[in-house]
Amino acid sequence: MPSDAPSTTRTDPAMRHAHDAIAALLHHGLRPTPPNYVLWFEFHAGQAAALRAALEDRLRDPSPLGEAEMAALHARFGASPSGPTLAEISRRLGEAVRDAAVILDGTATDAVRYERSLEGAAAALASGTADWPEVLAGLIRETQALRDKGAILARRLAETGRRAEALREELEEARREAATDVLTGRPNRRAFETALERHLAGDALPCLLLLDVDHFKAVNDRHGHAAGDLAVRHLGTTLREAARAADMPARLGGEEFAVLMPGTPPERAMCAAEALRQAIAREGVMLEDGTRLALTVSGGLAAATPGEGSARLIERADAALYAAKRAGRNRIEAAP
Ligand code: GH3
Ligand code: MG
Ligand code: MG
Repeated sequence: MPSDAPSTTRTDPAMRHAHDAIAALLHHGLRPTPPNYVLWFEFHAGQAAALRAALEDRLRDPSPLGEAEMAALHARFGASPSGPTLAEISRRLGEAVRDAAVILDGTATDAVRYERSLEGAAAALASGTADWPEVLAGLIRETQALRDKGAILARRLAETGRRAEALREELEEARREAATDVLTGRPNRRAFETALERHLAGDALPCLLLLDVDHFKAVNDRHGHAAGDLAVRHLGTTLREAARAADMPARLGGEEFAVLMPGTPPERAMCAAEALRQAIAREGVMLEDGTRLALTVSGGLAAATPGEGSARLIERADAALYAAKRAGRNRIEAAP
């Protein structure tokens, strides 16, 4: 067997994850369906933090995973707004992995057969009755055949590795799209909630800022819906540019944004929130006809407390946002 086949398997991350995924399926006696492959592939590739955490948690229980549990995991972590795309990529990734499994299986069978030939030859030679030239000629033939087959297998294996890698990149791209708001290019609510959950589970507690455009209905009424859309897009850009590097401004929907501030003490979060509010009020929005539209936002800021869940934190930030609206708008209020 030429050396590049096993080394491709070892060094190509996609192939390694594919092997680990197959091993997990065998270990748990799961059917080799694309969704099952993809879940285990992603688990080993370590790309989906929430999936990884859920599976790791489950694996602490030594009982084998069943198909129903896999289906539940898939429903929870496999579904997304761009479902059909991901499903299609999942299917093709599953095919690539299955091809690799077939190739590897064939290689292993050949190796076992070759080993048996060697043992047979050794036994024949040891018996002292062997026809030496014939035994050696047979061994040379088998070695040649295995080498030729090995070269073909190595090429196919490398090709499968490349396919798996290309598909993995596609999967990442599709996942990025599924996590991105189309109008602003900012993370969407789904991505924001995932990040918020992750930070709430960590040691350094985050602050959460909720922002809502002031009197936005009037913008639409006065300048039309297209101008309203432009304003929302512009807001996304201003937030991205004015936010601190570690902060995550996301669009929750409509003209509502959230800024996740990881590991930030409340006073510093208030300074950052004020800076954002002022940047928006200063910039306004330049409409297509050249008129400059004044735009302000109100904000509610809440600092996560130990053990606090995302729903409660959002509720407190929302209450502070409404306090800011009631107090006259274009201001940030901190939750008690
Ligand atoms: P308030 O200061 O109390 O927030 O007043 P408001 O007019 O902004 O009221 P509210 O937040 O309740 O309503 C927001 C309106 O913004 C509703 C909808 O007409 C408009 N809107 C929401 N999302 C979009 C969007 O993506 N594009 C456009 N053009 N308009 C939107
Ligand atoms: Mg609103
Ligand atoms: Mg509003």
